[in-house]
Amino acid sequence: MSNKKTLLFGPVKSRRLGRSLGIEMVPKKVCTMNCIYCEIGKTTNLTLERKEYYSWDLIESSIFEAKEKEDTFDVFTFTGNGEPTLNIHFERAIKLAKKVIKKPIAVLTNATLLDIPSVRETLAEVDIVLPSLDAGNHQTFKKINQPHPKIELKNIIENLKKLREEMKGEMWIEILFVEGVNDSEEELIALKSAIEYINPHKIQLNTVVRPPAFKGVKPLSFEKLKKIADFLGKKAEVIISKERLEKAKETFKTLEKEELKERILEYLKRRPSPIEELSSAFKVEKEIIEEILKKFISEGKIKEKIHEGKKFFLAE
Ligand code: SF4
Repeated sequence: MSNKKTLLFGPVKSRRLGRSLGIEMVPKKVCTMNCIYCEIGKTTNLTLERKEYYSWDLIESSIFEAKEKEDTFDVFTFTGNGEPTLNIHFERAIKLAKKVIKKPIAVLTNATLLDIPSVRETLAEVDIVLPSLDAGNHQTFKKINQPHPKIELKNIIENLKKLREEMKGEMWIEILFVEGVNDSEEELIALKSAIEYINPHKIQLNTVVRPPAFKGVKPLSFEKLKKIADFLGKKAEVIISKERLEKAKETFKTLEKEELKERILEYLKRRPSPIEELSSAFKVEKEIIEEILKKFISEGKIKEKIHEGKKFFLAE
């Protein structure tokens, strides 16, 4: 059990919710899925088991603490370093929050536990439910969200429809797009039909702007997101600004270079190589490889060796 004193974080400024005070319902990283783009990191406990991930006493005291700070935030948001509905006290916590906090209550969820009637009934009473839905086809769902093997996309879609019919508040579905994974025409057609079936109040489009859990996960351009929003219809909006996306691209370039450096070092540990070989193995210009190798030499990570008149690089 955790020795945390509070589960609150923020308030953080959120484009979707304004000033949002968060309450974390599960620790890093307990989730029913292992999304390739997750900004929290890789899931270390992929589970469907609902448990007391944080004690009721801690949840209760955190809600009362939020009450005292009520003038500092616009929305009280249930979230976590994973899926918040996995905490067995989720239903009770929402009930208490609704009783003591006057500001709107929001829940960020991946919608995988909506087949549990008490979870769905509780969410039906919340002001704003923000479920994520990144795919319309099961194959794509498995690729982007890497769910627990017992989770089926068609059940998520059915349960979201049921929740939408039962709820008193609003449902804002978020779709996060990853280049080359869920942005094909076929996938967009499937997503559109799932969303029309669920009929949420809003569809919010996002892409990868923070370092993702898995390597090689790339954002979509702002223009492509806009085009998808047009395709999905009037309720769809892009919730990331063009400027934020430009900044993110710079971060991704740096990340890619860091990844390339790691891979070159691994390669040289297995096989001493000349520059030309590295350039063709990694499909990167010789000048860039040379620059990386120079840095490695100055850091003492690799050595040069002349063999039969040719310069090789090796790492131990
Ligand atoms: S559902 Fe949310 S918390 Fe879980 S892996 Fe996906 S993005 Fe991360």
